[in-house]
Amino acid sequence: MKRISHWARGRLVEGGSGRTGPVYDPATGQQVAEVDLASAAEVDAAVAAADAASPGWRATSLARRSEVLFRFRELLDANRKEVAAAITAEHGKVLSDALGEVARALENVEFACGVPQLLKGDHTEQASAGVDVWSVRQPLGVVAGVTPFNFPAMVPLWMCSTAIACGNAFVLKPSEKDPSASLLLAELWHDAGLPDGVFEVVQGDRVAVERLLEHPDVAAFSFVGSTPVARAVYEAGTRHGKRVQALGGAKNHMVVLPDAEVPAAADAAVSAAYGSAGERCMAVSVVVAVGAAADPLVAAIAARLEGLRIGPGTDPEAEMGPLVTADHLERVASYLGVAESEGASLVVDGRRREVGGAGFFLAPSLVDHVAPTMRVYREEIFGPVLCVVRVDRYEDAVALVNAHEFGNGCALFTRDGGAARRFQFEVDCGMVGINVPVPVPVAYYSFGGWKASLFGDTHMYGPEGVHFYTRTKVVTARWPEPATSAVDLAFPGNR
Ligand code: NAD
Repeated sequence: MKRISHWARGRLVEGGSGRTGPVYDPATGQQVAEVDLASAAEVDAAVAAADAASPGWRATSLARRSEVLFRFRELLDANRKEVAAAITAEHGKVLSDALGEVARALENVEFACGVPQLLKGDHTEQASAGVDVWSVRQPLGVVAGVTPFNFPAMVPLWMCSTAIACGNAFVLKPSEKDPSASLLLAELWHDAGLPDGVFEVVQGDRVAVERLLEHPDVAAFSFVGSTPVARAVYEAGTRHGKRVQALGGAKNHMVVLPDAEVPAAADAAVSAAYGSAGERCMAVSVVVAVGAAADPLVAAIAARLEGLRIGPGTDPEAEMGPLVTADHLERVASYLGVAESEGASLVVDGRRREVGGAGFFLAPSLVDHVAPTMRVYREEIFGPVLCVVRVDRYEDAVALVNAHEFGNGCALFTRDGGAARRFQFEVDCGMVGINVPVPVPVAYYSFGGWKASLFGDTHMYGPEGVHFYTRTKVVTARWPEPATSAVDLAFPGNR
């Protein structure tokens, strides 16, 4: 059985905790590897290595740091197929989707390449007589990142490209469900010339996370995952005096007004709800159909699902792959029974479509006449299940979105610019799409939700990432003019 280990001080290091976890190929249902699960002592060793590397990296010039970032960018670009294949092998998403993940991750690295520009401070000359004031942004030291299974390359790079560019050492604890991508990233950082210890990977589970949260030498903690864990991580990390950003779950609504173009809205709903088998934090999981939009839209979505090709992620024809594990498949499928028992109508029931083999496949489902009180509406399902809530008016749609516990992303489909402007003004959500179903911000903005989708006050990557991974120092300096200045001494002709 293949063994997936830690990355420490620039090389692979086999774990010694005696604990491992299974890693599956979701397309076949077979276990393909065992991943080491770190002990608290192994976490301590990783933090110690990062702590030892941190001062040297902090002192490295910005020119040299950005050179390493540029080289890393080139290597990631050259190896995108290899990274995508590793993602598909353990996550299950189709290869085109995995390549899309790497492409979005590259944008984050490209943003970080501009670190000399990003770290520029302010300068005020002659704030008082002979007094100048300026600010600098300095790194925090050792920072940690804990990431979810659904973007095993992109989410680590949301964090580490900015953290490292800013001069920090970074300890990554990736998801134990698909840990291999993290080691490819580690190799690429190494080959790009990043000093040993600046990027450490600790494979593990809750034990590793809890040790990182309490470790006195970890200054800041970035987390992406489900809301219950995000909340707990935020509380524990801040209790231990750390800076914490913890991004949680989602229930993203797509509001469709009666004037929207139905075919375009249906195409958008299908790709946003079922792409990556719905295992995206920005997946659309609720369509809010306003007035007359409902009947034609539900019919158009249902018609498209018949033709949606499901298969292993390595099949170039497949548009949707399996779910990540058997447990998750069972959990997602159970919501269909819940929906039925709560009185919703299953327009398309994914359980009825045979998808061959022992892989963790579940065909797409469409659930209509969902009420806001139902569990399928309130809870994050994180699978290929799209709910439709019918409302009479635009105001009802906005009230529905705003009343939901989560506030990650949302979208409006309309041809009315006035309605669109009103929507982006009124809606309580961190990321809003206007005729864009998955409004993931480009790398030079920042990513984050509102309400139970984010704990902390700083969004991830982009300018807010730079803010999170640095602290500001303001220097106030007085240089009184001496009677005989050094300039005059050096150049007597000046006198
Ligand atoms: P998860 O919360 O189960 O796991 C995330 C990470 O936390 C993993 O590394 C895991 O090992 C660790 N972990 C799990 N349980 C823990 C515990 N009790 N204590 C400490 N650490 C623990 O999430 P997941 O299933 O890997 O990912 C899916 C979830 O992530 C969904 O809820 C999805 O919405 C969310 N997500 C959110 C965003 C966002 O940007 N808001 C992005 C991607 C995924």
